[in-house]
Amino acid sequence: MSELDLSKKVADRYLKREVLGEGTYGVVYKAIDTKTGQTVAIKKIRLGKQKEGVNFTALREIKLLKELKDPNIIELIDAFPHKENLHLVFEFMETDLEAVIRDRNIFLSPADIKSYLQMTLKGLAVCHKKWVLHRDMKPNNLLIGPNGQLKLADFGLARIFGSPDRRFTHQVFARWYRAPELLFGSKQYGSGVDVWAAACIFAELLLRRPFLQGSSDIDQLGKIFAAFGTPTPSQWPDIVYLPDYVEYQYVAAPPLRSLFPMASDDALDLLSKMFAYDPRARLSVQQTLEHRYFSSAPLPTDPDKLPRPAPKRESRSSDYNQTEGPTVLSPPRKSRRVMPGRDGFDGNRIDDNAGDIRQVVGENTGKSDAAPMSLDFSIFGLKPPNRPTINSADRSHLKRKLDLEFQHPE
Ligand code: AMP
Repeated sequence: MSELDLSKKVADRYLKREVLGEGTYGVVYKAIDTKTGQTVAIKKIRLGKQKEGVNFTALREIKLLKELKDPNIIELIDAFPHKENLHLVFEFMETDLEAVIRDRNIFLSPADIKSYLQMTLKGLAVCHKKWVLHRDMKPNNLLIGPNGQLKLADFGLARIFGSPDRRFTHQVFARWYRAPELLFGSKQYGSGVDVWAAACIFAELLLRRPFLQGSSDIDQLGKIFAAFGTPTPSQWPDIVYLPDYVEYQYVAAPPLRSLFPMASDDALDLLSKMFAYDPRARLSVQQTLEHRYFSSAPLPTDPDKLPRPAPKRESRSSDYNQTEGPTVLSPPRKSRRVMPGRDGFDGNRIDDNAGDIRQVVGENTGKSDAAPMSLDFSIFGLKPPNRPTINSADRSHLKRKLDLEFQHPE
């Protein structure tokens, strides 16, 4: 089968339903997998008109995400090219933690907060064990499924697809979850950035509003220092070596208890250790999970008993009815139904401009019932894309570098 036929065959498999939202990297659609009847969410990532095809590193990392299988990590079911876009197919999730926190009809007990935080940290621990940083931890990237399971989403994408387009303004909210070493321009940051962000999410669960809402990077640091005091050299000896370090006027830390009057002593102890200024002194995710906060009463609520907003999007796969006329990514040959999409997802025949992304599409016989990845990443190392965004001379060097980077720590 030609690569074009294969690309079309995969796109035919998904029936597009409504737009779920527009995220950092493009539009997210609800869709039905006609092979399994499963409701999925398809993230369409604009690759633009670039001639270089999908970045070599990007594809390698998507493969890595595919391998991150865990109850607290969103499952990447499939990935396929269509026209000038890359489509990532994820399991469909009903809601997210931001909706839970914002919903004034929901009362979150200490046990509920513990449960949501524990699931967040468990997902993060799996990422860090595999040397994957999330880099964009925030409540609306923590999706919640029908059984109450919280799952990390959008991880690694910042690294894979680079800085988002400036018009996606929600990206600025990520500032509120940014660790001080990032705000001071550190280029050699590590897993501590995700722990800081998780601490901000913990604080937000306790307060029911974002904790540190800076309006600029400088203001963000000001908000952090107002909450925890200006860091002293003994607290964070290396702060002065950070690229964008500037001295802030000294302010003393108010008692943490005054900021979180309702939190237990264990919660405050864990929070303070996740908010340690020096990334080397900050708890690792594994250490946070071993903190006594999680073993002391009250124990975390079972996920299926957690309070959640009423589902906005009815997502039962049984409501899938082909005669209703959902838009088809690329319509099945027999019942071609053309419904113009708002962004060029128009249901027309796949034209011949999918770019070099097709170069990396592997043969998919469709024999297996399990949804296979439509991009065959095993091709890397054997046949890299023709025109990668790195030059060929760098390729073997990069491959070695990536191999080292992703080696398991054992
Ligand atoms: P994102 O690109 O991840 O910021 O997502 C954009 C929008 O799509 C947000 O409103 C998300 O809630 C929604 N979304 C993303 N992934 C999923 C998913 N797996 N299931 C349901 N909705 C999703």
